Amino acid sequence: MLAARLSEDADREVVLLESGPGLPAGSVPPEIDGANFLATADLPDRQDPGVSATRVTGGPSTPYRRGRGVGGSSAVNAMVALRGDAGLYRSWGWDDIEEAWAAVAVPEIEPDDDELGAVDRALLAAAVDARRAPLTRRGGRRVTSAEAYLWPASDRPNLTIRHSTTVDQVALAGRRAVGVVLSNGEEIPAERVIVSAGAIRTPALLLRSGLDTPGIGTGLQDHPSVPLTLALRSGVPVDHDGLVIGAYRQRAGIQFLPMNHVGRDSVGFGVLLVALMTPRGRSGSVRLDPQDPGGPPLVDFALLADPVDIRALTSGIGDAAELVRSRPFAEIVEEIYVDHAGTTLDALTGEVAIERWLPRAVGDYVHASSSCAMGTVVDADGAVLGYEGVYVCDASVFPTIPDVNTHLPTTMLAERLSARWRRGRS
Ligand SMILES: Cc1cc2nc3c(=O)[nH]c(=O)nc-3n(C[C@H](O)[C@H](O)[C@H](O)COP(=O)(O)OP(=O)(O)OC[C@H]3O[C@@H](n4cnc5c(N)ncnc54)[C@H](O)[C@@H]3O)c2cc1C
Repeated sequence: MLAARLSEDADREVVLLESGPGLPAGSVPPEIDGANFLATADLPDRQDPGVSATRVTGGPSTPYRRGRGVGGSSAVNAMVALRGDAGLYRSWGWDDIEEAWAAVAVPEIEPDDDELGAVDRALLAAAVDARRAPLTRRGGRRVTSAEAYLWPASDRPNLTIRHSTTVDQVALAGRRAVGVVLSNGEEIPAERVIVSAGAIRTPALLLRSGLDTPGIGTGLQDHPSVPLTLALRSGVPVDHDGLVIGAYRQRAGIQFLPMNHVGRDSVGFGVLLVALMTPRGRSGSVRLDPQDPGGPPLVDFALLADPVDIRALTSGIGDAAELVRSRPFAEIVEEIYVDHAGTTLDALTGEVAIERWLPRAVGDYVHASSSCAMGTVVDADGAVLGYEGVYVCDASVFPTIPDVNTHLPTTMLAERLSARWRRGRS
C-alpha cells in the first residue's frame, strides 16, 4: 500500500522488498480469491513459518499465524473490515482520520443474503445490535491490498517490487539509515527505510539491526479471545467453500464473531468467538533469542496479565452464553463445548468457574499490535526516535491496539503516514 502511494510521486524511487511470493494480477490462487479464508492455510508459502508465541506468560509457545507474500496478511485474513472508534484515534492526536479513511482503497462490502451461513443468521436473529460484517470483497472475490494498491501501480517505472527477498537488517551509518542488508548479504542503499514487517517481525528486525531506542518490542498486544464450539444439528446446511464469517456483534468492548464452519476436518461444527477488543494489559513482548539472535524472535502476548481484562472477558462470556442459549441458536445448535476434552458450556456455571477456566482457554485473535508504539518508539510521523531515516508503518505503531480487527485500521494508518510524508516533502 505504502509503495503504491509513495510511487505516485514520479521523482521518488521506491523499492518494495517482500520475503514471500508475489501476487501479480491474473495469478491469484483460488484459496485467496475464495470466500473460505481457512483454505489459505493450504498455501504454505503464504504463511510465515517462523513465528511462535506464548499467549499467556509461562504457557507453551505455539505457532502464531501471519500472512507472507505480497499483500501480507490481507491475502489470508478473514476479510472482516471494521473501522473502529474514531474517538480513540482522535485521542492519539490523529485529527486527519477522515481524509485517511476517504483514501482507503480496499472495499468494505456486506455479504449478500445468500452468502450468510447458519451461524451468521442465528447471531443476526438473536441480537438486535448484530450486523452483517463489511468484508474486503467485491463481486464475490477477496480484494487484497496488492490488488487494491499495487496492481494499478505495477507499471510505474519508479516502482520495483522484489518478492522472495528477505531483509536481514537496516544498514546504519552511525544513527542514520543508509539502506538495508538482505539475508543473502546483498546491500540495497536507500535514503529512507520504512519497515512494515508486522508487529512481530518489525521489532525483531529493528533489534537485530542494533537499534537501541527504548521500548522496541515492548507493549505487544492482541485481542484475547475464547471460542464457544457449536455442535450443529444434523440437517443444518453448511457450505464448506462459503464465507466463514459474515456477521458480528460488538458492544461494551466485546466482539462476538460467528464462524459458520471451521474446516473440513471438523464437519458439523461452528463457533462463536468472544473477544475483548479493549484489553488493558500491555506486558506482551517481542525479544531476540539470546541463543540465536538471527533466528525467530521470542514472543509473549501476556494475555490476561491484567485482572481487569479477566473480569471484562468473563462478563463477555456470560453475554455469549445467553446468546447461544437463545432460540435462534437453539434451532441450529445441539451442544456447546468449551474445550477439546468435551466440557460443555453448562459445566461453566458462575463467574468463578469462568475465571478459573479462562487462562487455559484464552487464545489470540491474530491481531498482533503496538510493539513499536507511537510516542514510545516512533514519533508522530512513524520515525524511530533517536535515528534518522528509519520509519515504521504497520500494526506495531498503534499506541494501543485498536478496538476492532486490525486490517482496516492499519490501512488507514498507512494512508495517514504516507500523506504526511508526501505533504512534508512538498
Ligand atoms: C489468519 C488471519 C486472519 C485475520 N483476519 C482478519 C480480519 O478478518 N480482519 C482484520 O481486520 N484483520 C485480520 N487479520 C489481521 C490483519 O490482516 C493484519 O493486522 C493486517 O494485515 C496488518 O498487518 P501488518 O501490516 O502489521 O503486517 P502483515 O500484513 O502481516 O505484513 C507483513 C509483511 O512483511 C513481510 N515480512 C516480514 N518480515 C520480512 C523481512 N524480514 N523481509 C521482507 N519482508 C518481510 C511478511 O512476509 C508480510 O508479507 C488477520 C490476520 C491473520 C493472520
